[in-house]
Amino acid sequence: MNNLLKNKKISETPFRLEVLSIFNNYKNAIPLSVIEKDLKSYNRITLYRTIKVFLGKGIIHEITISGEDSNYAICEEDCGTNTHTHNHNHIHFKCNNCGIITCVELEKYPKISLPNYKINQLEIQASGVCSTCNQ
Ligand SMILES: [Zn+2]
Ligand SMILES: [Zn+2]
Ligand SMILES: [Zn+2]
Repeated sequence: MNNLLKNKKISETPFRLEVLSIFNNYKNAIPLSVIEKDLKSYNRITLYRTIKVFLGKGIIHEITISGEDSNYAICEEDCGTNTHTHNHNHIHFKCNNCGIITCVELEKYPKISLPNYKINQLEIQASGVCSTCNQ
């Protein structure tokens, strides 16, 4: 995981590695407030810039569920390195019980074609009871 930044051609700084390690500590998507809480010390502007770089390079992706703050989650390894070419075969699941948002892999991601439209990105969101709460 430490090679992730190098693989995506992003220069490693202690701060970027620290932000990355926070993402690795969670198995689910996290909002900015969780990252801020876990950082020892930070500068808001540097944090925003880091998030922007990570989003743009396919390190993390943003999940926006209506009525919620944006959440961020680590990308799949082969994710595109451009904000508009994120390529995920998973859905975003929001648990109505614990409130956690998770990226859930799908064996077969549905393919949708719209005549005369070009789809760059397809996002599927679901809500209900997550596997932990459902036990
Ligand atoms: Zn991605
Ligand atoms: Zn849950
Ligand atoms: Zn995701």
